[in-house]
Amino acid sequence: MHALGLATWFRRRAERDGSRDAISFAGQTLTFAQAQAEIEAFADMLAASGVEPGDRVAYVGFNHSRFLIALFATARLGAIFVPLNFRCTGHELAYFVRDSGAQLLIADEVHSGPVDEVRTDLDVRTYLRFGEGAEGWQGIEELLARAHPHVQEAPVDPESPGVIVYTSGTTGNPKGAVLSHRNLWTNNINWMLSVGYGSDHVALTSAPLFHSGGMCVMTLPMLMAGAHVIIHEKFDPGLLLDDVERYRVTSLFLVPAMMQGISRHERFDSADLSSIRIVVAGAAPVPESLLRLYGSRGIPVSQCWGQTEVATGATFLGTEEALDKLGSCGTAGLLNEVRLVDFSGEPITEPGVRGELCVRGDTVTPGYWNLPEATAAAQGGDGWFRTGDVAYQDEDGYFYIVDRLKDMIISGGENVYSAEVEDAIYGHPAVAEVAVIGAADERWGERVVAVVALKDGEELDLESLREFAGARLARYKLPLELRLVDELPRNTTGKILKHELRAESTSA
Ligand code: AMP
Repeated sequence: MHALGLATWFRRRAERDGSRDAISFAGQTLTFAQAQAEIEAFADMLAASGVEPGDRVAYVGFNHSRFLIALFATARLGAIFVPLNFRCTGHELAYFVRDSGAQLLIADEVHSGPVDEVRTDLDVRTYLRFGEGAEGWQGIEELLARAHPHVQEAPVDPESPGVIVYTSGTTGNPKGAVLSHRNLWTNNINWMLSVGYGSDHVALTSAPLFHSGGMCVMTLPMLMAGAHVIIHEKFDPGLLLDDVERYRVTSLFLVPAMMQGISRHERFDSADLSSIRIVVAGAAPVPESLLRLYGSRGIPVSQCWGQTEVATGATFLGTEEALDKLGSCGTAGLLNEVRLVDFSGEPITEPGVRGELCVRGDTVTPGYWNLPEATAAAQGGDGWFRTGDVAYQDEDGYFYIVDRLKDMIISGGENVYSAEVEDAIYGHPAVAEVAVIGAADERWGERVVAVVALKDGEELDLESLREFAGARLARYKLPLELRLVDELPRNTTGKILKHELRAESTSA
């Protein structure tokens, strides 16, 4: 199928529907034509700052309409957008910047600070900052105010990278999942076809845009569909309820922890939520009590499964099926195929048998940035991408996720990669050994648990452990529970038996 690059489909939407509302942020609305004008000015500025096709443009900042302007402007130059997790420490950000080889880094007023801490370790050519310039940083507003030669939209090969999104891996550091222009284009249409997005929708995004969930589940597909997208700086249940009423929002993407946060807000019962046509829920199964609660308020919930490597959506459960198929994430989208394989890679066809979920189609990443071995391992050589999630199908072909092969914890919708947390904790002088696992948690879905064996005569409490690890890790990755043990269970080859630790935490 023909595929258009990010900048091209947005421009074509702006040419057709220029006067329609496109993006609102903090009470300010840009029409598609206004957004396109901003994108062109931003692209001219980036070109004047030396950005060339194929360059990586890193972005660290809170959710904002300018995130999207920067993304489309980068694509207009044929360069690659690398959104970074603004919760990360300078140390973590430095890893992403070095790994992606970003030539230019954009930060908002708040996040230039953490970057400054690690600037000497980085090889970035140009630093741009919203607000005023500062030492080593050029101020974006000032640059935009200068006249720049107008650059044309670069011709883009649909197979070339559009964005690189950092995601957790099974070993070592997070990996940069490349999403090509074709991946993003196909994913947009997949959501439109599978869930029914259209230009009559008003979507609200409060999930972080740097994550594939915030960017690719609703924001980009809705913009391509010609819908109006409201961006929130961060998740704030009260503001979300206000804006649902104010803009007559039809569509929300929420993880279960956010759904719960909204349901506990004092205005949940009284707010006018009658405009909501769909809540797309992902990252974890939605508990039955929440589904019923939303149902009682007339809010349809569609549960979906996806991951960054498949540009987000791959299985979709219709809103009307939510209670009949409790715990299921639905069936394959219209533009991708899904199947299960056993541990020797043979397809599983019988219902109820667990296997690894694999996805095939144009939404599947061409691979991890600069990691041919990890790419080859995930691609498996047969065109079916190995997702690392374990699932089974029922007699009607509906999928149910049961486990993750990846050593990863999903807490409040955020991925926490165990090895990274273990690495940080190992540096503590009292720690002899540590294993980090996830435990079921009513509020967060999973919480990060550190199981620690101390050196002789040492003591440690959760508070001081969090303080120590907090110097290196973003807050959401810090353990919420510390379990002290004499020694960690290991198999004969010395590998820590995490499943035993997990089993103990369920029975505890
Ligand atoms: P990410 O790549 O950060 O979007 O994380 C994707 C991971 O979230 C998947 O590999 C799953 O482990 C998990 N996930 C996403 N959707 C669901 C769901 N509906 N049910 C259970 N786990 C999910």
